[in-house]
Amino acid sequence: MIHLPLPTMDEIDIFERCVRAYPDDFSQEDLDEVLPIIAKLYADYHDCLTNQRIVDLKRSVEFGKFTGEKMKSFYLEQLVGRDGVCREEYNKLIASAPRKKCPMCSGSTATCLDHHAPKQTYYSFAISPKNLVPICTRCNEAKKNTMPDRLDKQFIHPYYDDFSKFSWFEMDFISKDPIEIIYRCKSNDHLKPEAQAKLKNHFTRLKLDELYGASAITIIEDMKETFSPYLEAKDWWAVEEDIKTCFDLVKRRPDSWEYALYSKLLTERWFIEGGFNNID
Ligand SMILES: [Zn+2]
Repeated sequence: MIHLPLPTMDEIDIFERCVRAYPDDFSQEDLDEVLPIIAKLYADYHDCLTNQRIVDLKRSVEFGKFTGEKMKSFYLEQLVGRDGVCREEYNKLIASAPRKKCPMCSGSTATCLDHHAPKQTYYSFAISPKNLVPICTRCNEAKKNTMPDRLDKQFIHPYYDDFSKFSWFEMDFISKDPIEIIYRCKSNDHLKPEAQAKLKNHFTRLKLDELYGASAITIIEDMKETFSPYLEAKDWWAVEEDIKTCFDLVKRRPDSWEYALYSKLLTERWFIEGGFNNID
């Protein structure tokens, strides 16, 4: 997955500008009263996430005029809204995904923002940049309003978690002829149980097995075409060298579906020695 730097924009300033966009609804006194509360909540959020304790993040409670509905409308009108006072920040956050890739799946294009802690229940963080993560529509749909207050319901948070440096899922064959493959989360014994549960949930709920499996099968189909000239001469050395070249191109990304695919293929002699032809 893609690790993103924590947004550096001033989150209190964003909150203040959103409130000031409604001069008929909120007075200066209202603002003075709410700002220390929001500052404390934002600090708690950062603390919980930094310490991998999102389970401890408290669900939001309404205070005065700052109801859940109002906080959510700040997001929809002032960040998402084309004329919103913080639309620029909204665009910047989406653009923070390198090459527009969704950091949750690394596969699709990030087109919107996800509330990592859902705004339905954690509405105090509805406009906090640290809670707004660029995401693709596919992952956003799969994640929906999943509450992160249980270990088996958490997702990787691209600003706070970095699992991009090692291979934490794998590809395997469930059938060699015809070829059928599966992607699954590995057991990573060097990780704490909390981190393992998070990775497994992330992988399963975002249906990364389907996404990566479909991409990998296409590559294997291409290999059947590309390697067919090697079949008659049984030039398995050439097949292996081609796969090694592919692997070398992706080995700096050990948490990619390509890495899982090519590293597996290099260990499968039957595949190298003509098995690549067993795909329908
Ligand atoms: Zn995605």
